[in-house]
Amino acid sequence: MTDTIAIPHSDERRSIEQGLDAYRALPIKQQPHWPDEAELERVRRELRAAPPLVFAGEVDMLRDRLAAAAEGRAFLLQGGDCAETFAGATADNIRNRVKTILQMAVVLTYGAAMPVVKMGRMAGQFAKPRSNDHETRGDETLPAYRGDIVNGYDFTLDSRTADPERILRGYHMAASTLNLVRAFTQGGFADLRQVHSWNKGFAENPLFARYEALAAEIDRAVRFMEAAGANFDELKGVEFFTGHEGLLMDYERPLTRIDSRTGLAYNTSSHFQWIGERTREIDGAHVDFFSRVRNPIGVKLGPTTTPADMEALVDKLDPHREPGRLTFITRMGARRIRDALPPLLEASKSLESTPLWVTDPMHGNGITTQNGYKSRRFDDVVDEVRGFFAAHRAVGTFPGGIHVELTGDDVTECLGGSEDIDELGLESRYESLCDPRLNHMQSLELAFLVAEELRD
Ligand code: PEP
Ligand code: MN
Repeated sequence: MTDTIAIPHSDERRSIEQGLDAYRALPIKQQPHWPDEAELERVRRELRAAPPLVFAGEVDMLRDRLAAAAEGRAFLLQGGDCAETFAGATADNIRNRVKTILQMAVVLTYGAAMPVVKMGRMAGQFAKPRSNDHETRGDETLPAYRGDIVNGYDFTLDSRTADPERILRGYHMAASTLNLVRAFTQGGFADLRQVHSWNKGFAENPLFARYEALAAEIDRAVRFMEAAGANFDELKGVEFFTGHEGLLMDYERPLTRIDSRTGLAYNTSSHFQWIGERTREIDGAHVDFFSRVRNPIGVKLGPTTTPADMEALVDKLDPHREPGRLTFITRMGARRIRDALPPLLEASKSLESTPLWVTDPMHGNGITTQNGYKSRRFDDVVDEVRGFFAAHRAVGTFPGGIHVELTGDDVTECLGGSEDIDELGLESRYESLCDPRLNHMQSLELAFLVAEELRD
């Protein structure tokens, strides 16, 4: 499409820029209260002049890949922290997360017999929506933690006060994270044979014996490729994209640029942004802003979404009905997905739109344990995934991907899985500042279960 669009004149550029600022006049949710407007403006100016984090051509490539997934020819795997932190942006952490996603992707590729589009909730997943603007502990009430790009987690007034300088730190953290992700995924770390050998280690663990048969099939397939002379050098690097919730407008807007090749606006903070369940009002600031960028856009849909809400989002965000443009990430909850999803899928069939449908089996399944942890049961996560596949099977639409909160480390935040983490077990290594994540083993286990669904 882009090659048919002429590069706009300066008047047109001005009108695109003005359009990008239209959100400022609209109702907006979940933005911090910045104490110092002059300081904020200085930060925005600095960010406007900073280099883009991704190139518009990569964004176009992702749109093509997502179009294939929307049309049933590929599968999307999105994963990473609920909230990245500045302290957590270490080499080990980043490597483990990338490794986990690569391992899951190999299993899913086999299960789906299709390319798997790999995307991290990484290199920009710093801003968080909150249910309350404030948090009270004892008799003290302070602003809620909104993610490291806004304020600090420590419960003091100083730390909880929004600091615009953090936006710049967020940008630099995203840049260095992305740099390492690119190095890992292009520099040999992602070699298929290596990733496969990690997976063999997983399946050899007696706890995961039930996945042995599938793992053995994958092993045969890899050995077959080897015997048949497949070029493994070409499988040393993989495409890896970044995505995060497009939430904090003082970060997203300055990083949105007009691409010199096409004259169109691209949000260069990451390849993909999604609009959260709490900020997806049709007349709100976020939907307006993201309707104006060329990036593929996601929208989270919770269990109260009506077909009319969904249709309005399609009309606003995908008026040209372009496959790959729009992804719906459903997060219904295991108990509701079988009722709540089919009507949306049915309605989408008559819109001549091809959204990519992805399941987020995390956000509708939150619980608080007796000992006070925010957690999720692995079984509920799996049940929501199964409900997602069942709903698509019943309606005849394509279940195109999964979106999960995960870490490559051995944390104890979600209950269950074959390692059978129980409530007391949560105490040993609960590290998330926000939502509970699947740990490395739980993530791989989920990939094996999803691979089984994809084969059915
Ligand atoms: C999230 O993805 O961390 C999140 C806040 O999700 P949702 O918008 O679906 O609640
Ligand atoms: Mn979350």
